[in-house]
Amino acid sequence: MSVSTIAADRSVCAPLPVLGRDVTVPLVTGGEVTYAALDYAASAPALQRVWDDVAAYAPYYGSVHRGAGYLSQLSTDLFENSRVAVAEFLGCRDDDQVVFTRSTTDSLNLLAAALPAGCQVFVFETEHHASLLPWKDARVTYLDAPGTRGEAVRTLERALADREPHGPALVCVTGASNVTGELWPVRELAAAAHAHGARIVLDAAQLAPHHPVSVRDLDVDWVAFSGHKLYAPFGSGVLAGRADWLREAEPYLAGGGASRKVARRADGGVDVEWHTTAARHEAGSPNVIGVYAIASACKALTEAGFDGLVAREQYLIGKVCDGLAEVPEVKVLSLFGDDASPRPAGAAPTRVGVVSFVVRGWNSSHFAAALSAEYGIGVRDGLFCAHPLVRTLLGGDPQEAGECGAPDGGTTSLNAIRVSFGAGTPD
Ligand code: PLP
Repeated sequence: MSVSTIAADRSVCAPLPVLGRDVTVPLVTGGEVTYAALDYAASAPALQRVWDDVAAYAPYYGSVHRGAGYLSQLSTDLFENSRVAVAEFLGCRDDDQVVFTRSTTDSLNLLAAALPAGCQVFVFETEHHASLLPWKDARVTYLDAPGTRGEAVRTLERALADREPHGPALVCVTGASNVTGELWPVRELAAAAHAHGARIVLDAAQLAPHHPVSVRDLDVDWVAFSGHKLYAPFGSGVLAGRADWLREAEPYLAGGGASRKVARRADGGVDVEWHTTAARHEAGSPNVIGVYAIASACKALTEAGFDGLVAREQYLIGKVCDGLAEVPEVKVLSLFGDDASPRPAGAAPTRVGVVSFVVRGWNSSHFAAALSAEYGIGVRDGLFCAHPLVRTLLGGDPQEAGECGAPDGGTTSLNAIRVSFGAGTPD
């Protein structure tokens, strides 16, 4: 199917205004061109609305949970109201906690630090390193790359059935791959985890900017995402979900804000009573601007409506894939064997706006550098912090250690090119 047949979808949603649309960059060939940002999966541009909200708040900036002054109280209110807004955006259950972190990586490391003793962790080898690596103190089972979504569920079921029963277990899965853009069967994986007495955390770093994520509907125990991929910059992230493991864990960071009461003991030591709320894991002065920006982005996306955003993105995916299909040397990467051609209007999407490919005869790093230098197009090249997955997709050995982006000077370098886009990407 060609893009023209689904072009009607384009009118469903105009691009949301984002920052940086008018930025010009120099070309090696001389002159300047308007920058084409096609690296949303790394960091998306901020929504204009987020920027405006932050600018309106900036003069009222004050410390959170630490001052009697008007501006401190205002900032504390904005901070706590942001927690409520994020909980609403994620469809959290009443007793869930929303913990503000620095990023998805930080959120998953926080959860890893909060695992109960003896917890077994199950994670596909295809995950982003942020999901693959934080579990170093637990017993981890790495699951082989599945060839289909059904196989992913069956692989997990088999692994969980083989585990020692009764102990705590956690499954960590991504909602959408940062390499192929493909959607994972989160609901089915959550059902499989729960059927075997395990819990599940969803890495929604790539899913949340493109599709609605509801903790309740997907029936996941936790969800993690990053503000800078959700059109909100400023170094903030979220871990939201079940309170019990978080409440029982040692504070992620020890310090002010996490502690309710601290007293010297007669023996010279210190007694500490820690908060049992999200504050337990938010020690130190929080990033109120980053948190406010995340809440603003959540509201902006909800108001714009995901139906329109998804339809528009499917149109853009079609446009990219149509263009790539015209180049015989291009191979689009897919784990689940999804056809890279656009989906017909109304069909359920199978991927978000992330498409990776290699070009026969080209080193991917050189190709990406040429796109930037000669056309002002910003893409990503390399192994995308998902080394085992990219090696599998490129036919390499996933167990072989590799240098990210190391060019081999020839035609078969184990790295790829990724274009990614979303709200704000023009036609
Ligand atoms: N998970 C996935 C799927 C990602 O794509 C990324 C970043 O690219 C991360 C986690 C880590 O996000 P951050 O770097 O914001 O911690």
